[in-house]
Amino acid sequence: MILVLDDKITKSQKEKLNAVLSEDGCIVREITDAGRTLIGIIAKNKKTASEYKHMEGVADVRSIKTSHKLVSREFKSEDTMVKIGNVVIGGDRIVVIAGPCAVESMSQAMTIAKEVKKYGAVLFRGGAYKPRSSPYSFQGMEEEGLKILAAVREETGLGVVTEMTSPAQAELMEKYVDVVQIGARNMQNFELLKCVGKMSKPVVLKRGLASTIQEWLMSAEYIAAGGNNNVILCERGIRTFEPYTRNTLDLSAIPVLKQLTHLPILIDPSHATGIREKVSPMARAAVAAGADALMIEVHNDPDNALSDGPQSLYPEQFGELTRDLYVIAPVVGKQMDFDYLKKAEVISRLNNGETMTAAFVGENGAYGHKASLSYFGDDVTPIPMKSYGDIFAACAEGSVEYGVIPVENSLSGSIHENFDLLQEYDLKIIGEVTIRIKHALIAHRSATKKGIKAILASPSAFSQCKNFMDQSPGVDPVPVKAGTSAVRQVKESNDLSLAAIGSAMAAELFGMEVIEDSIEDNPRNYTRFAIIAKEYKGNKKVNKTSIIFSTGNKPGALFEVMKVFSKAQINLVKLESRPILGKPWEYMFYADLEADILSESLAPMMAELGEKSEILRILGRY
Ligand code: PEP
Ligand code: MN
Repeated sequence: MILVLDDKITKSQKEKLNAVLSEDGCIVREITDAGRTLIGIIAKNKKTASEYKHMEGVADVRSIKTSHKLVSREFKSEDTMVKIGNVVIGGDRIVVIAGPCAVESMSQAMTIAKEVKKYGAVLFRGGAYKPRSSPYSFQGMEEEGLKILAAVREETGLGVVTEMTSPAQAELMEKYVDVVQIGARNMQNFELLKCVGKMSKPVVLKRGLASTIQEWLMSAEYIAAGGNNNVILCERGIRTFEPYTRNTLDLSAIPVLKQLTHLPILIDPSHATGIREKVSPMARAAVAAGADALMIEVHNDPDNALSDGPQSLYPEQFGELTRDLYVIAPVVGKQMDFDYLKKAEVISRLNNGETMTAAFVGENGAYGHKASLSYFGDDVTPIPMKSYGDIFAACAEGSVEYGVIPVENSLSGSIHENFDLLQEYDLKIIGEVTIRIKHALIAHRSATKKGIKAILASPSAFSQCKNFMDQSPGVDPVPVKAGTSAVRQVKESNDLSLAAIGSAMAAELFGMEVIEDSIEDNPRNYTRFAIIAKEYKGNKKVNKTSIIFSTGNKPGALFEVMKVFSKAQINLVKLESRPILGKPWEYMFYADLEADILSESLAPMMAELGEKSEILRILGRY
């Protein structure tokens, strides 16, 4: 059952409560969920719910009806985020784990790790103890393999994941790896589950070859009951009558699990399909279905792999897949972040116990807030501000470390104010993030759609939800000032006849209900945010450069500059003109280039660009 604690519980009441629970032999877990402190207990029938309810400091007692308790949504409504070094599984960023089926040698593991890292993997996988169907097949390098994994982590910075097949390996696993995997064949090896339940490492729990979702969750419950809450559920295909694939990937497990459990979900399309060409389509589908992470087998020489070669992607195929994921992830509100590790490393190095901040415009739940969380994760605290000008000023004077500013929307075009501010301030663009703008109709929990008489929203939200408003005759549109939260105003009004247009995240933050989701006219509504800061930190790989330049006022001047880019084979992904501040009828050009224009090989191009333009400033390399 769940004991909901009184917000005003005293220290001594809590100590007394814990003493009673321990005396009763309960398994006890204290968590905060949706702002409240809860104690989950697995009671041994010593006391009834009402007896616990009458104890001091207990506000309410609820029973958990499902047979899985600690891992259930009933116990914890918020998603669990499993932290592995700087990587978080279960947040806004898709975590990609990649590597060979088995560690075969130092050079094989190291080569593949460097390749998969280059293409966006943030954790490395490789088996050292291989549970093979045949006793005559390669059984893994055992401790030698674990040492190689540790060396891979040392060299590449990638956390390492490996399978543990016996409790006897626990000590070695603690010593060498970051995540232990329980293989499909061991999902119901209860002694092994009890053992990893006592370990300090997060656990990837694979679904058994022929296990139901309920059996799988009960295995997760074993691990949680032992004290280890960092469990990642991994669907890797189940046995069916279908012989065309090695197993059948049960993607419907994703939405089913999302409802039943708070644990993050990892999809392994490699073991599910067993066939190289089938891996990427299923990986793409998994992300579209809401998976938090993927585990992909990749090998540099699959024809000679010691296990699972036929299902291993070539590194380049893996690279193609992660590029596709980059496009798909924002559709479901997530990101494939190619700078994940570098950024996390810089943040944790600079953090040193202090908190870092990123300013966005609007109130909590605004799209800038979501963009900040998507880009930085939880390591950087998002700070609401009133205007873009305030963000630039705060960054320039150093009262915040970062600014998150929208620069372009896929439907309404550029946000010119921010281009002008980029011109005005000496700040750098250090990164970018694209998020999908998905508007929801939000009202009080007990409100009904029929009862809504007025809708509050910003002017831009109204313009993006025109069809919805046209189909709601008799409902008054009430514009609110940009940067203020319509959701908060509706919440504070306590008026059931009012609704707001905002993000589902705002609804959640304000404890309101989404009455209808995705009410924007065009679903291809994306906003690209630039991340600005006083200076670059770290030296991450540069994919893009943003510049501003002006040309002389003579025929063909812009064409001359374009020729420089063309000659250097640089792809121009944006070109836009803006008036030069304070000089009417004179124009600057903003350009985004797919290149690091400060790289050595482009030095001659830069020299020529300098000659052909009157003003040239690099706004950012990222
Ligand atoms: C593996 O990950 O290499 C493996 C053996 O997986 P499974 O347990 O899903 O078969
Ligand atoms: Mn394998």
